[in-house]
Amino acid sequence: SIPLGYFGGIGAASREGILFKGSNFLDVMRELDTVVMDKTGTLTKGVFAVQQVQPAAGFEAAKFVALAAALEAKSTHPIARAVVEYAGPAESALAVADVEEIAGHGLRGTVGGQVVLAGNARLLRRFGVEYPAVVDAQTDTIVVVAVNGRYAGYLTVADEIKPDAALAVRALRAEGISKLVMLSGDKDVIVQRVARELTIDEAHGGLLPEDKARYVQQYLAEGRILAFVGDGVNDAPVVALANVGIAMGGLGSDATIETADVVIQTDHPSKIATARRIARATHTVVW
Ligand code: ADP
Ligand code: MG
Repeated sequence: SIPLGYFGGIGAASREGILFKGSNFLDVMRELDTVVMDKTGTLTKGVFAVQQVQPAAGFEAAKFVALAAALEAKSTHPIARAVVEYAGPAESALAVADVEEIAGHGLRGTVGGQVVLAGNARLLRRFGVEYPAVVDAQTDTIVVVAVNGRYAGYLTVADEIKPDAALAVRALRAEGISKLVMLSGDKDVIVQRVARELTIDEAHGGLLPEDKARYVQQYLAEGRILAFVGDGVNDAPVVALANVGIAMGGLGSDATIETADVVIQTDHPSKIATARRIARATHTVVW
């Protein structure tokens, strides 16, 4: 292939929808041996849909869904959007106040005067709310809801693997990347299922943002040169730690895009391999 100067490399990348924020990142991309990816929104579509609604005894489905949706309307999390979408535009007269979004957990707030929790089982444990064993036995992603300290039921939501994700894995291996890792806040059973399907070398689920940072620090301490690819609301700290922080711009949050060294403007993870290919073709110009 024709060697490109730095400007040529940045230009070629930009025509592919890949923005390098500096030519030095072309150099790092060339040295890369490890790619660490977020799951939701990076390898999966990041668009969830509600599958099942399971109210607790004594709770009406429509009621607990409405309470959860009123609260989730205050969040931009992809799971929150699914709940809101499912509940429909029912003109809610419920006043929502004191909303607190807890990373890797979910939301807490006051809805129509009642204290509502909507998130994962970890959120309920954090607030000392007891829930039945069926919750932990669920192999899908769930939104568990509690009202005034009582378990009210759950909704299951599902996301899909992007058709481009399998290509991304093949293309990264063809580019000589020796280690592919997936880190996610989603349940470990789901994370392992996706990793198996995509033949990703190593995957860890049930992580808080600081756990993701810990893994990245560990790989860096092992001497790996790594890219972290994320789109998430709370991926910015991990993006900043990596040798190259990459934001997937399709659904990405502003903070992550701001912090990233490279921004992929489409939602195709295979563009990570494209960025690497362009970096390898970029020849260091001796002035
Ligand atoms: P990921 O690494 O998959 O992007 P996040 O850190 O964004 O994960 O979220 C991790 C988990 O926290 C989710 O799988 C979900 O169980 C829970 N969660 C976070 N925010 C919300 C929310 N607004 N509503 C419901 N659940 C949430
Ligand atoms: Mg995320």
